[in-house]
Amino acid sequence: MDITTLTIAQARADLDAKKYTSRELTQAYLSAIEKTDPSIHAYLEVWRDSALAEADAADTRIATGDVAPLTGIPLAIKDNILIHGRIASSSSKILEHYRATYDSTVILKLKAQGAVFLGRTNMDEFAMGSSTENSAYGATKNPLDSTRVPGGSSGGSAAAVAGGMAVAALGSDTGGSIRQPASHCGLVGLKPSYGAVSRFGLMPMGSSLDQIGPLTKTTTDARILFEAIRGHDENDGTSLPDYALAGGGKRIGVPRAFIEKGLDADVRALFDATLEKLKGAGYSIVDVDMPNLPYALPVYYIVCPAEVSTNLARYDGIRYGLSVQADTIQDVYKKTRAVGFGEEVRRRILTGTFVLSAGYSDAYYRKARAVRALIRADFDKAFATVDAIALPTAPGPAFKIGEKASDPLAMYLEDIFSVTANLAGVPAISVPSGTVARDGVALPVGFQLMGPLRGEGVLLAMGEDVERVRG
Ligand code: GLN
Repeated sequence: MDITTLTIAQARADLDAKKYTSRELTQAYLSAIEKTDPSIHAYLEVWRDSALAEADAADTRIATGDVAPLTGIPLAIKDNILIHGRIASSSSKILEHYRATYDSTVILKLKAQGAVFLGRTNMDEFAMGSSTENSAYGATKNPLDSTRVPGGSSGGSAAAVAGGMAVAALGSDTGGSIRQPASHCGLVGLKPSYGAVSRFGLMPMGSSLDQIGPLTKTTTDARILFEAIRGHDENDGTSLPDYALAGGGKRIGVPRAFIEKGLDADVRALFDATLEKLKGAGYSIVDVDMPNLPYALPVYYIVCPAEVSTNLARYDGIRYGLSVQADTIQDVYKKTRAVGFGEEVRRRILTGTFVLSAGYSDAYYRKARAVRALIRADFDKAFATVDAIALPTAPGPAFKIGEKASDPLAMYLEDIFSVTANLAGVPAISVPSGTVARDGVALPVGFQLMGPLRGEGVLLAMGEDVERVRG
């Protein structure tokens, strides 16, 4: 078996045909991790013994014909998704030794299917970043070019899959953290509709923006993993009622004015070429007017830090993880948070506290919320005439390690095309569309499609078409 190209669909067929056992498959991935990960650092921790035990349990299920789509499939899990009894650190020093006291809903669903958990993956601290360089435990490298970042914040999950160290992985996406690493690592990444997948047991970053979703090698695999984790959950107050996935729809809108500037010329050319090929496959491609999209990035970088500053207030040195001793309770808070949080996390907390403060909340936070409503309205209006909206996933391919690390604004610009979907709450997918050359290396570039709320079925069907026309 060639595990570097193995998909969920193929592994399922092979396991069911008894070509190999889940133990053999899991063993192969554990060996690949041992060989490859010292130079990539996709994983923060590998769970060899429990993974093999889960594989054995899956093999018993397969022998009795009690098979679910993910029975015996080895997966990687982002470090901000809780698994009972396991450390979940969100790549932060403040949670270095924190062990989850319950299973997140997505993990419960995967456990019920008999999936195998290989380990927890590296990420930008508390999911803040676009390169995985903001991890307290060191950066992850892109397996396709180890001088470059894998994207972020779910860079460890993306690198694990692209590096042949997991069949598929779970990530989380608050402003692009599934789609952008998928784009940079040549994978499919799906950010579900807000409320489609339970956030229960996902460490919150921006609660009105966060969603868990799949990072996979193909659109078919994204569908399988999404189907496995989605569904209404009483433990998540923002969970949507269950809904069926509908396919169909061949009208794509392109907000041309928004992508005039700010992206690499060859990335732009690849985007246009993909649209042309879809046209050849029977799609209608039309311009749509979405005048408020240019405000999405500034709105995101007000709303997101505001939510971060309140969500991260819980890490006080008393309730979870790290606690630095001091004479007064105030000093415990201060010292624990000063030592426990990294630079980007502290920057967001400061920004968020500022935009929510009494003197400035009208000028920043409330204004941003009002503009967010206008952005949502742009989407609603566009979806009256088209089935999906196309945008590049990111302005360029994977960048060099260190290139943007000391320039937060350059890093934030990575998110210009992806944050739009999170602000509107709509689903979005990134599908590999080809490569561009940098320093003689062919680097993958994703093509992004956004659909109406509950429109994952449309996006997955279109994603399959992108794979077909890509050739
Ligand atoms: N890069 C964006 C940020 O830093 C998005 C992160 C995410 O989606 N978790 O906020």
